[in-house]
Formats: sequence, C-alpha cells, structure tokens
Amino acid sequence: MLRRIILASSNEDDIVLDPFCGCATTCVAADDLHRNWIGIDISEKAAQLVIERIADRQGLYRDIVHRSDIPERTDIGWIRRYNSPHNRKHLYGEQGGYCAGCEHHFEQRHLEVDHIISRKKGGTDHLDNLQLLCTSCNRKKGDRGMAYLNSRLQLAA
Ligand SMILES: [Zn+2]
Repeated sequence: MLRRIILASSNEDDIVLDPFCGCATTCVAADDLHRNWIGIDISEKAAQLVIERIADRQGLYRDIVHRSDIPERTDIGWIRRYNSPHNRKHLYGEQGGYCAGCEHHFEQRHLEVDHIISRKKGGTDHLDNLQLLCTSCNRKKGDRGMAYLNSRLQLAA
C-alpha cells in the first residue's frame, strides 16, 4: 500500500518524509523505490529499527545519518539571553504585571522569566516562548508545560 502511495505521489530522487516512522515501513518502501527519505520518531528503538532495516537492504553502499539531538532553529535570527532586562521589561508590559500562572499582580522584581516550552524540549529563548511567572509558580512548573502548572494551581484552589 505504501509503495503505491509513494509511486503515485513522487518521482525518483524526491524526498519522502515520515514524521512518525515507527517500524520504518515507509522509509524502506521509499528507499526501494529510489526516493530519498527522512524518518522521524521520538523512540530510540524506532531509530535503531530504521537503521537496521535500511542497512540490511542497502549493505555498505549508502550512509544513514542518525541524529538524536534536538535541531536548533536558525530562522529566527539573533535573540537575547532569555532573562535579559529587556525581555523582563517587555514581558512585564505585555502581561500588565500579572503572573502568567496564578494571575496575581506583582512588582516586576518578583516575577521571573520562564520558558513556555522548556529548552530541554526544544523551546527557544525567543520572546514568543517567554513569559513571566511569580517565584512560586515558576518553582511549581519547573521545566514542564503550562498544562502541568495549571493543573497544580487548580488542585491548590
Ligand atoms: Zn504565580
């Protein structure tokens, strides 16, 4: 079935992308049909399976590039250090002095710059990914998402 889809929708040397490649069926079909391919999966086992299945078929003639790091964005240009005074001041104005978690008003010095999506999960220092949280909310959230913080705040209320 995947072979038919690939044949109908691409030509030799095109690139086939499978962002949830799992057991590599799409990658193997694309490779057999002389397409370049990119397989992405969060599971390290899936990545290993792709490498083994493709290597079995290709032998030693082609290289497989396997990356396990989180790619960094290069399309957003130069960005300030996340907790710079400029970012803190900008975010304080944008949020009107309210914590993005508990929504209480604080003086600027009592709010901390926080990554909405943590850097550990691929979030950047770009202003679009920053917010101000009070110390208490920032400690509760840690490097987890806002859904986690909101659930902690609802439990406490
Ligand atoms: Zn708060």
